Amino acid sequence: MRAMVLGASGTLDEVERPDPEPGPGEVRIAVRACGVCRTDLHLIDGELPPGGLPRIPGHEIVGVIDRLGAEVLGLSLGQRVGVGWLGHSCQHCPYCLSGHENLCDHPGFTGYTRDGGFATHAVAEARYVYPLDGIDLDDAAAAPLLCAGLIGWRSLVMAGPHRKLGIYGFGAAGHIILQVARWQGAEVFVFTRPDDLAAQEFALSLGATWAGPSDAPGPEPLDAAILYAPVGALVPAALRAVRKGGRVVCAGIHMSDIPSFPYEWLWGERQLVSVANLTRADALDFLHAAALAGVHPAVTTYPLTQANQAVADLRAGRVRGAAVLVP
Ligand SMILES: [Zn+2]
Ligand SMILES: [Zn+2]
Repeated sequence: MRAMVLGASGTLDEVERPDPEPGPGEVRIAVRACGVCRTDLHLIDGELPPGGLPRIPGHEIVGVIDRLGAEVLGLSLGQRVGVGWLGHSCQHCPYCLSGHENLCDHPGFTGYTRDGGFATHAVAEARYVYPLDGIDLDDAAAAPLLCAGLIGWRSLVMAGPHRKLGIYGFGAAGHIILQVARWQGAEVFVFTRPDDLAAQEFALSLGATWAGPSDAPGPEPLDAAILYAPVGALVPAALRAVRKGGRVVCAGIHMSDIPSFPYEWLWGERQLVSVANLTRADALDFLHAAALAGVHPAVTTYPLTQANQAVADLRAGRVRGAAVLVP
């Protein structure tokens, strides 16, 4: 197989390897598309705890099962499936036993502690492989659902009941969750970098009630706000934008430090929470909702071998929606 591999250099190198063989409980997937997530940037930049190198990144995999390991039930050869960030859980820690596998003490993460989908083939645990039968999107458009969509969904649920929702950062997750929130009947207010008028226009075109700069409060108090931008300074900004009793959800795996702020901005029973990873139930719920809502991610595709270019474009904010690699 061919893969783009992250070594110590901090860049992705094209490598030929023998095709991986699925072990018991695993399947091999012929990758048709794999999204590039902001977490991949954090991984490449060394901002996450070491997950082992060399590593094939990529945790928004869409492909077709081309080999079944032993003891795999419920999946079949040729089936179109997706794989996301959480790729393994221990099944015996207190979190796993209480239905919080997203917080597992001994997890495995696709494209971080296990090889992922920046490749022509990937092996995944069957428990964390999701059939995409109901998803009426081409492979590249479906790929961002597997992380931007899934983590986005978990953060949307975590935001609690809301009629007016703020979204900070309008990349892959933001533009997917806007579509879901609109389908649910919420008004959505989108906050972007002050000079990013194109992103604000994009948000309005997808049905945002308002879009504007993130360094000022929006036009009216929000019931909840979700931060997809990994910018700690936005936490106090979002707290100032939500009403009393409102909730601010930090959805990223990494964020720059949060500056100190007056307690008054948290006062009034405002809540500040984070979202970590996802559960299989999140995945099934979201894929069902995405199909019903007719979510259609905007994607820019790149050949697999141009992964470094995709990463650079994402980093520079040049990607509208999501970047996706196609083998
Ligand atoms: Zn566990
Ligand atoms: Zn991700």
